[in-house]
Amino acid sequence: MPLWYDTHAHLDDFAAAGTLDAVLARAAAAGVTRVCAMGGSPDANRLAVRLATDRPETLVAAVGYDRDLAAASPDPAELRDLAQSPAVRAIGEIGLDYYYDPDGAAAQRALFDKMLALALDLRLPVCVHSRDADSDTLAALREFSNHWKKTFQSLEKSVPPGILHCYTRGPEMAEELLDLGFCISFSGILSFNNAGPLREVASRIPLDRLLVETDSPYLAPKPHRGKTCEPMYTARTGEVLAECTGIPPDTLADATTANAHRVYGGPFRP
Ligand SMILES: [Zn+2]
Repeated sequence: MPLWYDTHAHLDDFAAAGTLDAVLARAAAAGVTRVCAMGGSPDANRLAVRLATDRPETLVAAVGYDRDLAAASPDPAELRDLAQSPAVRAIGEIGLDYYYDPDGAAAQRALFDKMLALALDLRLPVCVHSRDADSDTLAALREFSNHWKKTFQSLEKSVPPGILHCYTRGPEMAEELLDLGFCISFSGILSFNNAGPLREVASRIPLDRLLVETDSPYLAPKPHRGKTCEPMYTARTGEVLAECTGIPPDTLADATTANAHRVYGGPFRP
């Protein structure tokens, strides 16, 4: 059975409902044996670290302050403390979303810059969300990637600077992200009927940069649309990615899982 790595899942609702162990058991039964638990707010960060610390064979954690906190100025010291945990392998979810909050663009960019600076400081890769903000996202990531490359070159190590998660954009942005060293992660959206152009983009991403994710609890892939999305559906998105790339599922699972381990394989901290 192909073994998949869900590189981006929000587990808060499952933990609150007491269903997380059942959810992870269903994932394991579907071949999804590793999951990155995403943070993004003070509560979600604490939870992700606790869950990943308790289940080190299955979970790693990402912590960060996401764009919806841009106006709230959350505590940087608490985040820095949490990010020191060995379970934390990335700063995320962070990024820019001008679709939901065009008026908050400047505040979002300021928070995003702070998160990128923290990631550089702690040598943690980033999990990035971007919607209707391509040029600002790329400008910030270009600067981040330059600093990142210098740091890791001097350590004689190669670690991807991060992941553009839930990729839905065209070939040009993908090309730029690949130039910057980023991995590109596809969610259940890849299976949607209207996602033909996205499948075309996915088919051109080099195998050593591809990742799969669920973004649970949202965006369940076809034919499960409308249900709560769970990490087990990574296997379904992986099948769709195998179809559109022409790569056999076992090969694709091995490669995407190895890519995820390269990104989340830290801590690389100083
Ligand atoms: Zn997310």
